Amino acid sequence: MARDAVTQCHECGLLQRIPTLPVGGLARCPRCGCKLHRHRPDSLEPALALTVAGVVLFLVANSFPFLSFEMQGQTTETTLATGVLDLYAAGRWELAALVGFTSILAPGLQLALLLAVLVPLKLGRLPAWLAGLFRYARTLDPWGMMDVFMLGILVAVVKLSDMATLVPGTALFAFVVLILVLAWAQAALDPDIVWSAIPLPDAARRPPHPGELVYGCPACELAVPAGVAGSPHPACPRCGEALHRRKPQSLQRTWALVLAAILLYIPANLYPIMAVTSLGQTQADTILSGVVYLLHHGMWPLALVVFVASVLVPLLKLVILVYLLVSVQLGSAWRARDRTRLYRITEAVGRWSMVDIFVVTILVALVRLGNLATIEAQPGAVYFAAVVVFTIFAALAFDPRLIWDAAGQGHGRD
Ligand SMILES: [Zn+2]
Ligand SMILES: [Zn+2]
Repeated sequence: MARDAVTQCHECGLLQRIPTLPVGGLARCPRCGCKLHRHRPDSLEPALALTVAGVVLFLVANSFPFLSFEMQGQTTETTLATGVLDLYAAGRWELAALVGFTSILAPGLQLALLLAVLVPLKLGRLPAWLAGLFRYARTLDPWGMMDVFMLGILVAVVKLSDMATLVPGTALFAFVVLILVLAWAQAALDPDIVWSAIPLPDAARRPPHPGELVYGCPACELAVPAGVAGSPHPACPRCGEALHRRKPQSLQRTWALVLAAILLYIPANLYPIMAVTSLGQTQADTILSGVVYLLHHGMWPLALVVFVASVLVPLLKLVILVYLLVSVQLGSAWRARDRTRLYRITEAVGRWSMVDIFVVTILVALVRLGNLATIEAQPGAVYFAAVVVFTIFAALAFDPRLIWDAAGQGHGRD
């Protein structure tokens, strides 16, 4: 933020002035406690260096052998994309699309977009498309799931360990380093070094008139007085994002997505997610039987991780979202800060539910030795993937500022 910038908290809607922060200092919203801004004025160069390293690692991770599977003299060699291609070839295009997007496309696209933004910025150029590209790069945040994919690899390797020999390839090492580099780049980059470089017309800088409605830009976090945003389709003068006082039809959209996810949760747990065929015998596994299998083989820490990620997290997320929706609709003023925190947790943990989908993808890619051993994805995996996607969209559709509106505190200064 520029010094003393006015911003609107994106979680509770409080309009506030961010004080001058020391380097590395963090500003939190005094009302809901969410992180508003961490001041890193010198983050352009480290972020650029990490992004370049990320692009190189991404290329390596996608072009070299990833994992090899050796069983009774037969070997399967895979690349990162093998599982996606196998799922597609087996007619599971929904799973192929989702896994391809979250493990390869979204992280790759995000790196490319970041590079396209940071290089011109470093060269002191400000092409007109800079703000738009940076906005897209940040939209991809919830969809890059390489860290969850890594957990999937771990589970898959442990599951296969007593059945065959697994040999990690060059790409796997690049992949692991890439996850660290991406996390580091995300932590290093202060988005405001990009946003503050984009010139704002003087008219857009004026403070709001008394009583004037103020929009908080969800992308660049600029506080925009209604008179500046324009009508009938208010837009951010800095990044072009469409502005709304609250997310449009937030309650209706969240309800629809939550109800769809609850319905899909049933077949997701009843139907098998994969089938293992070995020497003519086929055994199907549901999500729960997969957990039980790990328990029976003494791998209880992993069983616990999979149980939490695949069973507990989606269920908890649905329960919390229903509770938040009901509490907002009843106009509850009870512990708004804690309810906002619940929402924050829901938003952060949902992606880890993808782990079982990644495990299936990796197993499908590795175990395809014809009659000796073959693993195939089953309909339960498609339903379960839909649950994960719907709950992520539901969390995105819910506007936590409604909690504060319902509590009668949302209209403060906005
Ligand atoms: Zn707040
Ligand atoms: Zn904006």
